[in-house]
Amino acid sequence: MSKRLAIIGGGAAGAISAIEAKTADPSIDVVIFERMSKLCKKILVTGNGRCNFTNEDLSPRHFYGDTAFLRKILTSVHADNESYFRELGVLSYKEDGRIYPRSQQGSTIREALENTVNELSVDVRTDTPVTSFNEVQSGFKVNNEFFDCVIVSVGGKASPVQGSDGSCIDLIKKIGHKLTPLYPALCGLITNDKALHTLKGVRAEAKVSLYTSDKLLGEESGEVQFTEKAISGIPVMNLSHLCKNNKELMLRLDLCEEVSETELKAHFTDTIRLHPNWQTENLLGGIVNAKLGYMIINQAHISKGTPLKSLRQGEISKLITLLKNFEIKINGTKDFSSAQITCGGVNTSEIDGHTMMSKLKNGLFFCGEILDIHGDCGGYNLHLAWTTGRIAGCCAAEYLKD
Ligand SMILES: Cc1cc2nc3c(=O)[nH]c(=O)nc-3n(C[C@H](O)[C@H](O)[C@H](O)COP(=O)(O)OP(=O)(O)OC[C@H]3O[C@@H](n4cnc5c(N)ncnc54)[C@H](O)[C@@H]3O)c2cc1C
Repeated sequence: MSKRLAIIGGGAAGAISAIEAKTADPSIDVVIFERMSKLCKKILVTGNGRCNFTNEDLSPRHFYGDTAFLRKILTSVHADNESYFRELGVLSYKEDGRIYPRSQQGSTIREALENTVNELSVDVRTDTPVTSFNEVQSGFKVNNEFFDCVIVSVGGKASPVQGSDGSCIDLIKKIGHKLTPLYPALCGLITNDKALHTLKGVRAEAKVSLYTSDKLLGEESGEVQFTEKAISGIPVMNLSHLCKNNKELMLRLDLCEEVSETELKAHFTDTIRLHPNWQTENLLGGIVNAKLGYMIINQAHISKGTPLKSLRQGEISKLITLLKNFEIKINGTKDFSSAQITCGGVNTSEIDGHTMMSKLKNGLFFCGEILDIHGDCGGYNLHLAWTTGRIAGCCAAEYLKD
């Protein structure tokens, strides 16, 4: 009789693990249980619909979690995901190191996975949530059906409309695994400062520094976006995982990172000398978005329309300080509904980093975002999903052989 492998969750990690297991041993009966109406629905919304599926720079500094565990994943023979997708017919396109399918459509990746899964005759059961999962003699029962081996690839709680709603978390705990607390990340940061809400739609290049009670938590540079009641953009999202358990959060934006305070002062002095009758708004208008410029002038307590020749030294210094240190009080992160990833998850001390198999239960594997590891924005989270999924699939097939 064929050995039976159940895969709980048909997202990025689950689909690729099915392909690997079935390729390694076509005789295995592989079943994917997916609660949504199609496989890998989330992939369609990744990378703004383009699916940034991996990155040229895969150095460990872009990944977070147990370092030794991550090292095993990142150095695995299953970590070259660009080549993997080329073999599934997908050529890539690169932009600042970020790797997308050449079609620049996430559907290309989704369809490559779905076509391969079908080609290999994996039994895909969509619209089938897993509601029961327990260990029985020499295997497991998933929705009351017997399997010799199980891969859990249910994702976390981020973006539940795409399927990952955390519905399996209690089942994972019941089977005996510990999870570190789950919290949203790669998301915007909320500010209750009403004045800043007028900046909705404004974008600015900035160095962003996140502080808790004046202690620096992290720094990132890039485009910041002001949205309704929140600040977003890649640098802010990359810092969002540092907010957990920290109070008195403050973002400091250097809105003119490439120009030093001394150079700014010299630039202002020149502009004031050349255009003494221009208004203060014109001075900042050459540097930042007009709405942001008005806000800085306002915070410097300078009246609207003040001619440059009337600016006092103290006022000029204040403008420079605000451009280099624009402070935003942060009241927390956005929630799971708008987060790209979940931090926390199955405690990696209970998982073998070479195989993704549970150290507590033989034949039970975990992969993807349900594990307590995560990466920066830039293709790093899908990279973890593919690599851990590939390892889990291969090693599950190997386990079933034994
Ligand atoms: C808007 C957005 C944009 C993103 N962009 C990028 C990007 O460009 N690059 C990048 O690297 N990462 C990106 N990510 C993150 C990336 O999508 C995830 O890290 C990755 O999809 C995780 O893969 P996974 O298979 O572990 O989980 P998921 O993709 O979440 O898949 C889990 C699957 O399990 C299913 N499931 C859950 N519970 C059950 C149950 N009880 N029974 C049956 N099925 C169940 C779900 O329906 C889902 O299909 C983005 C995320 C979002 C939300």
